[in-house]
Amino acid sequence: MPPHPPARDGHRPDDGPPALAEVAIVGGGPCGLMAAIELGRRGIRVTLVDDKPDTAVNPQANATQARTMEHFRRLGFAHEVRALGLPPDFPTDIAYFTRFGTHELARFSLPSSRQAPDLIRRLDGDWSAAELPHRVSQKFVERVLRRQTQAAPGVSVHYGWRMQSWRANDHGVRLSVAPSAGGAPRELRAQYLIAADGPRSTVRRDLGIAYRGETGIVRDFMGGRMHAIYLRAPQAYARWPHRPAWMNVCFNPQRRAFMVAVDGREEFAFHTQLRADEDESSIDDARAKAMVHAAFGFTQPLEILSRASWTAGHCLVAERLSEGRVFLGGDAAHLFTPTGGLGYNTAIEDAVNLAWKLAAVLRGQAGRALLQTYHAERHPVAVRNTGYARGFADSLGLFTPDPAIEADTEAGRHAREAAGAYFDRHARAEFNIPGITFGGRYDGSAAIVPDGTQPPPDSAARYQPSACPGGRPPHAWLVDGRSLYDDFGPDWTLLRLGPRAPGGGGFVAAAARHGVAMVVRAHAAPDLEQRYDAPLVLIRPDQVVAWRGGDDTRADAVMARLLAR
Ligand SMILES: Cc1cc2nc3c(=O)[nH]c(=O)nc-3n(C[C@H](O)[C@H](O)[C@H](O)COP(=O)(O)OP(=O)(O)OC[C@H]3O[C@@H](n4cnc5c(N)ncnc54)[C@H](O)[C@@H]3O)c2cc1C
Repeated sequence: MPPHPPARDGHRPDDGPPALAEVAIVGGGPCGLMAAIELGRRGIRVTLVDDKPDTAVNPQANATQARTMEHFRRLGFAHEVRALGLPPDFPTDIAYFTRFGTHELARFSLPSSRQAPDLIRRLDGDWSAAELPHRVSQKFVERVLRRQTQAAPGVSVHYGWRMQSWRANDHGVRLSVAPSAGGAPRELRAQYLIAADGPRSTVRRDLGIAYRGETGIVRDFMGGRMHAIYLRAPQAYARWPHRPAWMNVCFNPQRRAFMVAVDGREEFAFHTQLRADEDESSIDDARAKAMVHAAFGFTQPLEILSRASWTAGHCLVAERLSEGRVFLGGDAAHLFTPTGGLGYNTAIEDAVNLAWKLAAVLRGQAGRALLQTYHAERHPVAVRNTGYARGFADSLGLFTPDPAIEADTEAGRHAREAAGAYFDRHARAEFNIPGITFGGRYDGSAAIVPDGTQPPPDSAARYQPSACPGGRPPHAWLVDGRSLYDDFGPDWTLLRLGPRAPGGGGFVAAAARHGVAMVVRAHAAPDLEQRYDAPLVLIRPDQVVAWRGGDDTRADAVMARLLAR
């Protein structure tokens, strides 16, 4: 990691966390880092502490969804993330096997990272978007996020510092933080606290906020204790009898596992469900290697990089996402079973949603009531997304392979065909999810002005672009080849659409009165006006449609509502 530049006030990170910040963030995973970038870019003084020495070495997520990539694009580093992980031509397929070295049962082919940027320009409807998903280990993404965080003015990042205790009152928050390696604690004061401190969130527990939902869900697979083995297998591909894939799932009566290609050459993240007779405390490296060999169906030289146990079968959301000056985000606020790849992506959108609101309140542009819309908007999305993930886990984990599935007999062949047909359907359901990715909505929020129209129905696999206020703005490619989103401003954007769009000066004046930055973008071509079904559309800083209409006569009232004035 390059040296962290000094903050604007001259404070150097080697001095430890500065005593004063506007926002303190506990947790330097995806949620905390993204919140720090968003706040720092808006000129907010942020101090982030994380108790690990650096970003995670072998973290879990491997799928960055398209909406997350669009946010990275808005911030200018989607291309950097897209270049990481698998080689550019490596297939990002999802493939199902009896064992990785024997029968392939089903395969859902997806584009490589080299194909993605061109392909997305040719897609429309469900996949009308600026970015396709990217299959990449969270460890690579976190490094980019950390670099971007450190480049943001006013952000002070301190890995190796643990938050020991905290308290909040009406005026602000105080944290006691200390070096994880030991050393004297120091006090940190801030106006707001973001608890992005993961599934075991101390802050959530200190607040007495419970997770609600279901946990301890038991399935043959993806429901119970799982063992994660991060490994190097330099000969795997030389002996791999099938086309490589990003996600490899194996089903045989002996072992169920999924294994993700990390670098496309030799590094893998392997996760297997522990059987009832397997006790994690008695798993040593030799036993772990035997598990991997059972999934491959052949032995080979393996180097174990790290191992850890975790539990699949959570579908949990904190009952409140904020209290006073404290906000919960990411896994501190919701806990998923990883099917669908939604935990980290939901964490990123929490950060995006919260940061512009905090910045607007801290800069005096919005009333404090705006912060209440964080819970109002993100809690329903967390319930929705954890529910979708649970459905995928049921579909994958409750499927029981026929005991004959590996037999070299007619019965074995039938069993493999039946399993293949099942996984073919399952893969499309779990891995083609534009509706989940793009269709999250904030209907009913005080930071949205409804126009009386109905949003499209919620569906995992179907996304219907709609400018009904409260959802993602419909995407389009402009004649100059840019994404419409590239034309949006970093904060508020007023779109003037169609040949006869009104001037929209009322919104510009209202924005100026509140001190918020707003750019006006005119697109005279009629297709965008049709897509948005209105000549004037207001886009929030998190790229959500806030309002649409035919004229700006109510601009003052609309902006006052949106900014909780
Ligand atoms: C096997 C598996 C596969 C997954 N795959 C996907 C996927 O493909 N896509 C997806 O979207 N999600 C996936 N997830 C989920 C994803 O990994 C998490 O949702 C994500 O890491 C949450 O990010 P976060 O920033 O909220 O929390 P974390 O990443 O947990 O970060 C929290 C940080 O807070 C720090 N911390 C905690 N307490 C303190 C303290 N007191 N002081 C200082 N620091 C503290 C921790 O050290 C940690 O670094 C997967 C999860 C698993 C288990």
